[in-house]
Amino acid sequence: EWLEAADCRAELLRYLKEHVPQIFCLKKECSPQEEEELAQSRLLYPLECFLFGEDPEDGLEKLKQGSTSSQLCGRVFKEGETVYSCDCAIDPTCVFCMDCFQDSVHKSHRYKMHASSGGGFCDCGDVEAWKIGPCCSKHDPGAATAMVTDDCMLEPELYERAEKLFRILLRYVTDFLVWEENFELPAELQPRAKENAYYCVLYNDEHHSYDHVIYTLQRSVQCGLAEAQTHTALIDKEGRRAVKRGTFRSCQQAKESIRSNSEHISLQPLRVEILHAAVMAHQTFALRLGSWFQKIIGYSGLRQAFCQVALEPNADRDRPCLISRLMLHDARMYKARKIVHELIFCSMLMDAEFKRLFAIEFTKYYKQLQKDFINDDHERSISITALSVQIFTVPTL
Ligand SMILES: [Zn+2]
Ligand SMILES: [Zn+2]
Ligand SMILES: [Zn+2]
Repeated sequence: EWLEAADCRAELLRYLKEHVPQIFCLKKECSPQEEEELAQSRLLYPLECFLFGEDPEDGLEKLKQGSTSSQLCGRVFKEGETVYSCDCAIDPTCVFCMDCFQDSVHKSHRYKMHASSGGGFCDCGDVEAWKIGPCCSKHDPGAATAMVTDDCMLEPELYERAEKLFRILLRYVTDFLVWEENFELPAELQPRAKENAYYCVLYNDEHHSYDHVIYTLQRSVQCGLAEAQTHTALIDKEGRRAVKRGTFRSCQQAKESIRSNSEHISLQPLRVEILHAAVMAHQTFALRLGSWFQKIIGYSGLRQAFCQVALEPNADRDRPCLISRLMLHDARMYKARKIVHELIFCSMLMDAEFKRLFAIEFTKYYKQLQKDFINDDHERSISITALSVQIFTVPTL
């Protein structure tokens, strides 16, 4: 039906408007597993059916057979993961993941190893990163070709649907990751009747210790020690967490209580905000879509469609393209920005031509990004500015 609709975007958003809030915030006691299953079956599965025009499993299988594996490893490092460098590297930022290193000539060289601070990726296969032995045996293309731009091997209909779908979804993801209205949704997603359902959301900051937060939660939202610990660990990991659900009034009370309880232990109150349940639901799904994209664009033809859409000039020429909108919001985004960085790694940085186009965008806003970084008061270790080592160290760029 979406395919035949005159306005595919409007139809799709209408579907999301109806289903997203039901899955992500209707039931209070929905376990993460149940939530994930529902998101799979009622949101992601229909989207994939639209994309492939058939059972997604068959579609993905065909893509797997047709796609030559990328010559770049591109593995994104987790914090603390062991990475390897060698005297043969063009500069000290070039590294191998453990698997690639084990399969490379550098094993018998003067190599160094260290723990990644997270957020970089494996340079195996990048001929610009290594003086010799740029590939491990797994990523060796056989011939000494440079990072080639993948030819699009998708059927034209599939490519067209991919572009159409990605354009709608990436804009949705962008809109919600930069969204700053706590109570209102964009007009096309505004529900007819607005429920009195809100979340009290606690944000990570650099001023309060774990113990402060646990103490505050126990006194403010009447939760037990174990629950308070879970909340606190997740706030640290994900950057924010809903600690209470209820009417606007009850969330307002919780907010006041959290602020006053946290203020007298460390001078500065914790950052608490009240969000309408539907806003929270769409933001949650936008993040989920971010990791869905990562999975789906592992196939080179689809990756190309994604890069195309992400870098497409905005219809309104004065406004930045989608990926730049995300970058420009980086410093204000809670830890969700990690997902954005990973998306950039596994899309634009995996392809020579799109990497060049992305470098132009990155450079265009570089000054602003650095300013935002300096003003950012939390989590500087995860910043879009760290991408400068992926861009400004590349000789041909
Ligand atoms: Zn690797
Ligand atoms: Zn490799
Ligand atoms: Zn070496």
